[in-house]
Amino acid sequence: MDKPIYKRVLLKISGEALSGEAGFGINNDIVNDISLGIKELNDVGVEVAVVVGGGNFWRGRSNQEMDRTTADYVGMLATVMNAMALQDSLENIGVPTRVQTGIEMRQIAEPYIRRRAVRHLEKGRVVIFGAGTGNPYFSTDTAAALRAAEMEAEVILLAKNVDAVYDKDPKVHSDAKKFTRLSYMEVINKELKVMDSTATSLCMDNKITIKVFELSTENIINVVYGKNIGTIVE
Ligand code: UDP
Repeated sequence: MDKPIYKRVLLKISGEALSGEAGFGINNDIVNDISLGIKELNDVGVEVAVVVGGGNFWRGRSNQEMDRTTADYVGMLATVMNAMALQDSLENIGVPTRVQTGIEMRQIAEPYIRRRAVRHLEKGRVVIFGAGTGNPYFSTDTAAALRAAEMEAEVILLAKNVDAVYDKDPKVHSDAKKFTRLSYMEVINKELKVMDSTATSLCMDNKITIKVFELSTENIINVVYGKNIGTIVE
């Protein structure tokens, strides 16, 4: 491998991917593994911003008994737990980080300030964005698209618990078709489960490339060094 093909990337890690097989909570081995991948990029000067999901603790839409707005705020708080776990793990291996949250919680993190976030990246700090967009009815996918646009990241690295985008769930259907390249419109029209439609539209309007792949240290590095794995949406 020679040189990274990107200078600034936005890594989106779903909450689910952080819990591993358990499907709930935080798996420290997985978090530490992701941190090693991020460190490797940080060491060679790639600027890394991270948006973390919260589905390993809570999803607003799956709690029907609670008021939707309240449930969404609970979901955003869940992402902050993941952000802090990732920060801790990165700092343990000497990677400078800042957590910025879309909802102010100054005792534990900086509030989201775009210019400050950009400055952190320029100084070689990994910026972890918690609390999504700070607004209910959105998702952390939308937060990833929004922050990628604001940070002027060249690509969204969408690390999932599947290796690519398929026309149906490959774990259930053995004949599921794998896509290596898709347009934003195909994702929206075919209702493919890459990102929700709000997030996909935001990427389309702002011409942000999305690379979807299975979460692992090796894959994160391979994608940044230009290896074709998973699915590219552009
Ligand atoms: N959420 C929200 N606004 C945002 C981001 C997240 O309301 O901008 C809430 C929403 O309830 C969502 C939950 O936080 O279900 C967890 O985020 P998400 O489901 O995107 O996490 P993932 O599925 O990627 O783990």
